[in-house]
Amino acid sequence: MRIGFIGLGNMGGGMAANLAKAGHPVAAFDLSAEAVARAVAAGCTAAGSAAEAATGAEAVVTMLPAGTHVRAVYGDSIIPAAAPGTLFLDCSTIDTASARAVIAQAAAAGFAMVDAPVSGGIAAANGGTLTFMVGGEPEAFARARPILDHMGKAVIHAGGAGAGQAAKICNNMLLGATMVATCEAFVLAEKLGLDLQTFYDISSKASGQSWSMTSYCPVPGVGPETPADRNYEGGFATGLMLKDLKLAIQAAQDAGASVPMGSSAGALYQALANTGAAGKDFSAMIRFLDGKAA
Ligand code: NAD
Repeated sequence: MRIGFIGLGNMGGGMAANLAKAGHPVAAFDLSAEAVARAVAAGCTAAGSAAEAATGAEAVVTMLPAGTHVRAVYGDSIIPAAAPGTLFLDCSTIDTASARAVIAQAAAAGFAMVDAPVSGGIAAANGGTLTFMVGGEPEAFARARPILDHMGKAVIHAGGAGAGQAAKICNNMLLGATMVATCEAFVLAEKLGLDLQTFYDISSKASGQSWSMTSYCPVPGVGPETPADRNYEGGFATGLMLKDLKLAIQAAQDAGASVPMGSSAGALYQALANTGAAGKDFSAMIRFLDGKAA
């Protein structure tokens, strides 16, 4: 299947490479010439523009930063250039309103499209082990699934247009809140004189257990190896968590939902980012709460 791939950054680069590795001809485009060169080295062919990547493709995959980029690239380039019958897959994490608007615009032009944001970071993108949460019509999902299977270990249909983005921001709001709560608990435990390994051993087997505690412990040297053991480098950047929390808070306002924990987590991640730590892993929250420089 001829695939156009637009957005070859930290995530898209590895995803496009996995499609090429699976034997699909991939026409790849990014505003960054270096990103295109890396994709070519990984088996893709270079496209000179987003429209060129979409021309003659049977499917177009996008992995762009935010809703404004997705609206512009589909509206200006992909929809006008694609041949009838082309399937569109947007894997970026964007606001649900933009996702629904672009899917409606594609449908009005006769194209099937899914929103298919991912869970899993750069290592999962490179390794083809992402989890995709997919919104769209069942027929579009059925067509998208074999393409997504080359890039992920789990592909889940979340519902209609925008449902993938809804699932993604609800999940990450939960993650942000549990990470803040886990960090708070460790800071308090230390001040109360508890050994942190001992507290981990207790809480990871008690009712305080969560993924943030057990699989992504924010304390260096405690639990499995995590970004905390690498001075909070790599992993999932604070700036990206902040972006996802802002999307969740905006969506909650639009939907009339009360999200006090998500809002508190958003304010705390904004404060952490303001210290210059936007590039640090989001578990660096523990240093911020402890009054240390992240
Ligand atoms: P990135 O900034 O590394 O990559 C985005 C790429 O899009 C860049 O290479 C940029 O040059 C390109 N781009 C921007 N506008 C363009 C345009 N008009 N035409 C062509 N290319 C354009 O970002 P990333 O880390 O790869 O993230 C991509 C998306 O995936 C984001 O929505 C992010 O929230 C989401 N995401 C990221 C992670 C992660 O761990 N990095 C995890 C899950 C989801």
